[in-house]
Amino acid sequence: MCGIVGYVGRRDGVPIVLEGLHRLEYRGYDSAGLAVVGRSALKVHKAAGKIRALEATLPKRLKGSPCIGHTRWATHGEPSDDNAHPHCDAGGRLAIVHNGIVDNGAELRAELSARGVELRSETDSEVLAHLIAQALPSAGSLEQAVREAVRRVAGTYGLSVVSADHPDRIVVARNGSPVVLGVGEREMFVASDAAALVRHTQQVVYLDDGEIAVLTADGYETSTLDAEPTDKRPDRVGVVPEAYDKGEHAHYMLKEISEQPEAVERTLRGRLDRRFETTHLGGLNLEPRDVLAIRRIKILGCGSGYYAGLSGAHLLETLTRIPTHAEPASEFRYRNPVIEPDVLYIAISQSGETFDTLAAVQEVKRKGGRVLGVINVVGSTIARACDGGIYMHAGPEVSVTSTKTFTCTLVALALLALHIGRVRDLGPADGRRLIEALLALPEQIRQVLGGRDRIAELAARYSQYRHAFFIGRAAGYPAALEGAQKLKEVSYIHAEAYPAAELKHGPLALVSPDTPTVAVLPHDHLLDKSVSSLEEIRARKGPVLGITHAGDARLDALCDDVLHVPRSAPELDPIVLGVPLQLLAYEAAVALGRDVDQPRNLAKSVTVE
Ligand code: GLU
Repeated sequence: MCGIVGYVGRRDGVPIVLEGLHRLEYRGYDSAGLAVVGRSALKVHKAAGKIRALEATLPKRLKGSPCIGHTRWATHGEPSDDNAHPHCDAGGRLAIVHNGIVDNGAELRAELSARGVELRSETDSEVLAHLIAQALPSAGSLEQAVREAVRRVAGTYGLSVVSADHPDRIVVARNGSPVVLGVGEREMFVASDAAALVRHTQQVVYLDDGEIAVLTADGYETSTLDAEPTDKRPDRVGVVPEAYDKGEHAHYMLKEISEQPEAVERTLRGRLDRRFETTHLGGLNLEPRDVLAIRRIKILGCGSGYYAGLSGAHLLETLTRIPTHAEPASEFRYRNPVIEPDVLYIAISQSGETFDTLAAVQEVKRKGGRVLGVINVVGSTIARACDGGIYMHAGPEVSVTSTKTFTCTLVALALLALHIGRVRDLGPADGRRLIEALLALPEQIRQVLGGRDRIAELAARYSQYRHAFFIGRAAGYPAALEGAQKLKEVSYIHAEAYPAAELKHGPLALVSPDTPTVAVLPHDHLLDKSVSSLEEIRARKGPVLGITHAGDARLDALCDDVLHVPRSAPELDPIVLGVPLQLLAYEAAVALGRDVDQPRNLAKSVTVE
């Protein structure tokens, strides 16, 4: 959440920072700003709205290095020019950009005000600029002043600081919010996400919590808050810049939906073992003996990660016969959970930076539990905090709404379920059946994508309703939850998901000709039960859009509209059934003229509580 970009070197930093901010705009987009040091003067420009609004206010001749920029996702104080970052000290000599939350911001603001400091924004972040400025005279260096200031701060920060009195450097610090350095030729970059750097360099350094770094044109030095040097060597980022481009697609969301066949192929690549009809997952760090000792599995995630966890719990329990549950990581971490040694914990996060999920992982580890990560971004904080895991290899996901990483999470969990199942009671015939089904997924998803025109036509019609229900049973229910979430996020149509049988316990009161139901209907043993639920809706004249497989005339007759998807293995059907729901949400948002990739109030990679 929130984009930070910085540059120091011989070139003009302004266009580099602006271009980087555009790359990170998906991480927050309610206001933006930049600070540039030129000829020992500090210039700061900021504006509410998107980066385009900032660009419109910039003087043509604004140039310089170092330069830092920010695209905000407001936590404290409304999106406004004043609350936009950077924030300056009273003398206007130094500027900071901050990602995260200063938990003791209110106390620090009160303390600063009592000491006569005039605060110019409502943010928690501004205190950092004043604290650093106050520490500077006695600290002796900008980096020491930053160390002293952040010691006073409770909460999280990814922080970049420039000062007109130290015009050769950017000082950066990290606690809980990602900071990555980019190493160039006689130039250095910093960002909250490697997406902003890959056009300039493939050499990156990920800061750890409690580390600070000084960047100059000549390189970087990292150290702890106690000024102990840390030895950080650059890693290769391993993502080609083109992976972040939209290509011929109108939106990143459509691009990412369309990429799913290849993304699933990457999740599967090199991991299927046809000899023993199982999977090879190199990073699990689980011996067969450990697998045998697992008594329960607990999956933790947020948002779509949680819904993928619910779907995965079904799959894991079915294939391994180990009781499996999913829980929102944000709930889990705060309820003093009981951690047991024979429980396998699984953390799901696209970015690997989701704050609540990271905190849940840390809580499990602190209490001696074992956690596996199902993560997309290689080398991310959660990936490093886990004992092992599975990378999705879905490629960068830029749209705020996750699509391909939801699908790839399910595929990764299917690989894990197959692995655990085959160590335990799942026979080789089932192993073979599932491997065949996994291998068929990319082509089946391609077939669903081929039906986009018809889905667009349905979406145009259904987008005229203000409310919608989504229903499913058993494995179909998490797919319904995710489908409703997608629709809400991007089209702003109010959508609620229920287990189909729950409708009659309350929500049926709202079913009417004005409230359609999207029914997720895998051809499983519950199909007859689902038919009864559809009858109940029809009796109240509620329109029904069925997402199902071909071959059941009763279903087709009961639904006003039907979308058929190919059948997979029953355990994997939700993966294929989810794809038309993504397209439905996308096309509804397009039909309603919504800002598909940057829906209101949201941002990618939720690094705050
Ligand atoms: N808490 C800060 C604010 O509201 C930073 C938010 C962000 O990470 O964008 O300004």
